[in-house]
Amino acid sequence: MSSTDRSARHAARQETAAMNQQIEEARQRIEASKKNLKEIQLEKKDVREQTELQEEIRKGVLECPICTENYNSVDRIPRFFEKCGHTAYTHCFSCQVTTKDKEINERRLKKKNVFDLPCPMCRKIKRVMSDFDEQFPINEEVLVFAQASAK
Ligand SMILES: [Zn+2]
Ligand SMILES: [Zn+2]
Repeated sequence: MSSTDRSARHAARQETAAMNQQIEEARQRIEASKKNLKEIQLEKKDVREQTELQEEIRKGVLECPICTENYNSVDRIPRFFEKCGHTAYTHCFSCQVTTKDKEINERRLKKKNVFDLPCPMCRKIKRVMSDFDEQFPINEEVLVFAQASAK
């Protein structure tokens, strides 16, 4: 084998090594951009899910959970059921009273003008006077939110 042959082979080997190195680098770049793309897609998904969640919360906060009507400051004022912290508008607190509740309540009502009202969501009992609207504190936060959203 001549020295020219040897140096030609050596050069060829070096060239192959350099090409392999380039291929490896390109492969790594592709992997990196794939990873990047995946992260971007995940981020997008996160944003979408958060928007959906916010929308759900917004709706949940602005609507009475019983009748799903939006609150307002006139005839659908959101009020707290202090015993448990649930919010609804008072008409819906009262319309959830069952017939049996009503019978018991009517007997009490005759005696003392008070009756037991169960929370429509968790059935916790609050003892109230017959005209009970004012006995539930207004949920100011929800009211402000409802008014802002109505505009
Ligand atoms: Zn309602
Ligand atoms: Zn409740």
